[in-house]
Amino acid sequence: MGMIKLTPEEALVQRARISLCEECDLTPRRRCPDCGCFMDLKTRIMGAKCPRGEWVAMSKTEVIEFAYSTAVALETD
Ligand code: SF4
Repeated sequence: MGMIKLTPEEALVQRARISLCEECDLTPRRRCPDCGCFMDLKTRIMGAKCPRGEWVAMSKTEVIEFAYSTAVALETD
């Protein structure tokens, strides 16, 4: 599958999102039960959001803030 190229910061957001989908009701083909999208792809679109509110659309600034807070959390663990 052709994939959208992500920055390292966007990759952190994508991993956090797909973890939430994996704890949700993903179908065996990894589609969302609500929107029907293929979540390995949709989670890479920063402006996309979960129809159940499990994760939100993010601006470029919010992506960087998320990555920064994740890095800080790892350092203080
Ligand atoms: S996008 Fe939301 S509703 Fe769909 S599988 Fe992911 S967490 Fe579940």
